[in-house]
Amino acid sequence: MSRVDRLRDLLASQQLGALFISKAENRTYLTGFTGSAGAVFVTASEVLLLVDFRYVEQAAAEAPGCEVVRVPRQATDAVAELVHRRELQRIGFEQDGLSYREYEVLSKALHPAAFVPVDGIDRLRWVKDDEELAHIRAAASIADAGFAHIQRFLRPGVREREVALELEFFMRRQGADKEAFEIIVASGVRSSLPHGLASNKTLAPGEFVTLDFGAVVRGYHSDCTRTVVLGHASPRHREIYDLVLTAQQTALAGLRPNVNARDVDALARQVIADAGHGEHFGHGLGHGVGLAIHEGPTLSPREDATLEAGMTITVEPGVYLPGWGGVRIEDLVVLTAQGCEILTRTPKQLLIL
Ligand code: ZN
Ligand code: ZN
Repeated sequence: MSRVDRLRDLLASQQLGALFISKAENRTYLTGFTGSAGAVFVTASEVLLLVDFRYVEQAAAEAPGCEVVRVPRQATDAVAELVHRRELQRIGFEQDGLSYREYEVLSKALHPAAFVPVDGIDRLRWVKDDEELAHIRAAASIADAGFAHIQRFLRPGVREREVALELEFFMRRQGADKEAFEIIVASGVRSSLPHGLASNKTLAPGEFVTLDFGAVVRGYHSDCTRTVVLGHASPRHREIYDLVLTAQQTALAGLRPNVNARDVDALARQVIADAGHGEHFGHGLGHGVGLAIHEGPTLSPREDATLEAGMTITVEPGVYLPGWGGVRIEDLVVLTAQGCEILTRTPKQLLIL
């Protein structure tokens, strides 16, 4: 079933005359168009790609399956005209696709048609097809090469920012469109910050260094975290590292189709809680990765979703001890019929540099 056909199922099940899609990932997913602005207007029989002057030529080239409609940058009146000309009654939009102002302006302009939030559009992207998987694999392998490269730069006296810059530069040279997100380099006490962006701090001996990074290839992301230690690993470094690695491997062993996402989260969470560090693992175990770096399904205590083959998900437990440091180990995997295949090939034994 084509992507648009699956979207039309949603249209029919929610009695909508059309869907107004404005999120960049969904725009690309449905049409192939990669421009940074525009909207897709889908009815039971049409797929219109609404773009302004800047994108008309690009849209026609990238989205041959759509009718490209040139609209003003402020497209409210044009969208209202599409709706009124077709006498549509109910138009759906993505819950998290519009700002409050955009919602207000559009809902007023579309009146008397109802403008209603719709759930489940992002859900269409959860299971990846072969072409998407090829891009994700390519992105993961660039990140692996990046880690192999950056190991040589991790030494006392180097600033976290220099490490991040070198890693980004290397991944781009290897063919990444860009970095998947701002690279995290958190060393020493800063490694207890789960999202510690690279700072001016210099690396020092006897410190953990956590790197969280990824590449983008043809719009698809990868995501990987490794924590290494500089100089000498103390017994406490080893204890915390082994705990996180055990938690990660326990979750990976239980990751397969037809299990619930929250049960996989619980596998890792239990290992960490049993060691007395439950309080120090405050985030979810993982998240989907694709056209967005963070998408569904998430692996968390709150996610009630059945996992399926073809989903690409991270598994990234962490233990963070404020004032001391922390460890996170993250792999990106694809669910297979039997279990999961790890796309991140970078080794996971504690690396002492
Ligand atoms: Zn990450
Ligand atoms: Zn992640």
